[in-house]
Amino acid sequence: MKIEDNIGTVDYFGEHRKVFMDTDGAKEGDYVYAQGGVLIRTVPEKEALETLEFWKERFFELKKVDARLSKVHDSQTSNAILAILQKVNLKRALTKEDMSALYKVTKPEELKLIYETANSTRQKENDNACCVHGILEFSNHCRNDCSYCGIRKSSSIKRYRMTVDEIIKNAEYAVKELGFKALVLQSGEDTWYDEKKLVEIVRRIRKMGVLIFISIGARSKELYRKVYEAGARAVLLRFETSNREIFENLRPGTSFEERIDLIKYVKSLGYVVATGFIVGLPGETDNDLINNILLTKSLGADMHSFGPLIPAEGTPLEDERLPDKQKVLKTIAISRFADREAKILVTTALETLDRKTRKEGLLAGANSIMINVTPPEYRELYIIYPNRADKDKDIKENIKQTTDLLYSIGRAPTDIGL
Ligand code: SF4
Repeated sequence: MKIEDNIGTVDYFGEHRKVFMDTDGAKEGDYVYAQGGVLIRTVPEKEALETLEFWKERFFELKKVDARLSKVHDSQTSNAILAILQKVNLKRALTKEDMSALYKVTKPEELKLIYETANSTRQKENDNACCVHGILEFSNHCRNDCSYCGIRKSSSIKRYRMTVDEIIKNAEYAVKELGFKALVLQSGEDTWYDEKKLVEIVRRIRKMGVLIFISIGARSKELYRKVYEAGARAVLLRFETSNREIFENLRPGTSFEERIDLIKYVKSLGYVVATGFIVGLPGETDNDLINNILLTKSLGADMHSFGPLIPAEGTPLEDERLPDKQKVLKTIAISRFADREAKILVTTALETLDRKTRKEGLLAGANSIMINVTPPEYRELYIIYPNRADKDKDIKENIKQTTDLLYSIGRAPTDIGL
């Protein structure tokens, strides 16, 4: 690694990537682990050489598979759609009308061309890396009452909270035993975890040398600042919809403007930001989805996170219809066209909609996945929506299935020790 003005240049098999120097006195020539553009830790030479040895041949093999699967094939497509995709290939910004035309596509050959173009864009701009973050759901208490959410405060579900030591123990298992290098700590908006507890949790986990994402809802700016100082470097905070009327109906007692302001604030603090929305909310139009995509980009999202509405029992939206899978895949593809270099997550909600969709999402422009590392006795209580795809999955089995899937399509999993 080379360093200039707090920015390091990391050499990864001949590719050069810039990282913000955030840590532990790393010097030129050190081996380092970086994520989301942030240097997370230095890596002892022996460990680094073992990792590089493991990846040496596999890295180039995977790239070949990815390049093969990223080809765009000729297909019967209208001139209007071809003209839009040509704009994408020329790296020109799409208009809202272009995006709207893509949302209207229903012919299988045209959909195939859209997804292949999105996958090719992902490959050209981001290569074959795929983030695999572990997610630990540490509390299903929430002070809010969002209409779409199975753990809203008025749901009569069994509640749990992990103690600070339990969170540390589970994080340690995910890092040391399962090899995760990026962990998402997620809960409802639960103020039982005050600044003191959250700072302690983050400090102790940061010592394990991982990127810490926090997903704890709308807490105070001061708390987000303190938790940053303690070592958290990424925030998952969705705005859920850019349509204020829908927002106010579905998230009583919360303010759209305050939510957006908080997302901007955490970005200004230096956090890596994952944000996004729900696809398929009642009353939502394609125009809302386009505005959602553009808002995600304008907020400077490092990672786009959106998933379909899965109606949860006992909530006001329990009788809503599931959104069309193609609508979610189109949203992935259009997000890729709008934000070529971003990470785009295939969410568990999408996988819940259809178990095959994880692969389809990755081949429609996505390049990020999360694996649930919450112990089963708690996972089954974190029921934001029913029949979650990861509900009964053994964690190690899930990791194996995920890495097998990624290898089969030429992606190199990052953030998980291999
Ligand atoms: S969506 Fe988030 S804030 Fe709303 S009720 Fe569910 S956990 Fe709470």
